[in-house]
Amino acid sequence: MLRAVALASGSNGNSVWVETADFAFLVDAGLSGRALAARAAEHGIDLGRAGALLVTHDHSDHVCGAGVLHRRHGLPLLMTRGTLRAVRARIGKVAGVGTFGAGETLRFGRTTVWTVPTPHDGVEGVCVVVEADGARLGVLTDLGHPFPELVDLMPTLDAAFLEANYDPDLLARGPYPPELKARIAGPGGHLSNPECVRLAGEGAGGRLRTLVLSHLSGENNRPELALAAARSLGTRGLRVELAPRDATSPLVRIGE
Ligand SMILES: [Zn+2]
Ligand SMILES: [Zn+2]
Repeated sequence: MLRAVALASGSNGNSVWVETADFAFLVDAGLSGRALAARAAEHGIDLGRAGALLVTHDHSDHVCGAGVLHRRHGLPLLMTRGTLRAVRARIGKVAGVGTFGAGETLRFGRTTVWTVPTPHDGVEGVCVVVEADGARLGVLTDLGHPFPELVDLMPTLDAAFLEANYDPDLLARGPYPPELKARIAGPGGHLSNPECVRLAGEGAGGRLRTLVLSHLSGENNRPELALAAARSLGTRGLRVELAPRDATSPLVRIGE
């Protein structure tokens, strides 16, 4: 059994609650602690139940609420040593931080969390795959580009929160300065809608059945554009959902 919901998703803040039969944890805390607790409560989730807050990388849309959740709700912090070096000054006073190396596998009872190093331009950042009782979920954002390990991973997942950050035309025509456009579309930036859809297509050839379009840009994407790009996936047996920027996502359930 595996359940997950994005409490926040987008370049303005990210946080995904993941729960299995014997473990619950939060991936990232990119809104204020208060806002995340309120969003969790909408789903009957008490953040204090989390056995860990895993921070994927040092960008503030993933880490800005981490210190407060640690201090007020007692969430144990977990991140790579590189991420800790980069965020230490921003998370405030903490009792201790668990660290791991990007690529290490973490085990919590019957729940396994694979950390996968990404080419995104954070410091030693990761994305994660969670497996429990045979169910496999990917929390896959801030990916840089569709790197080979990611392509291989997709068909092995039952469900994925997958980055669909920008529409290439909106980004090209939009107001961002050229160097920022180049960063977003470059190998250390974010995945576009077409890149997301190609990866999900790889997944649909395997066991992937649920896709949640995630980490949408406010300037360079629109929900309707991301959903339109993903429309063809419906005919391949995929249920396509979208994590909105200003509210929680639909609940993802794998197994019973
Ligand atoms: Zn991000
Ligand atoms: Zn990032």
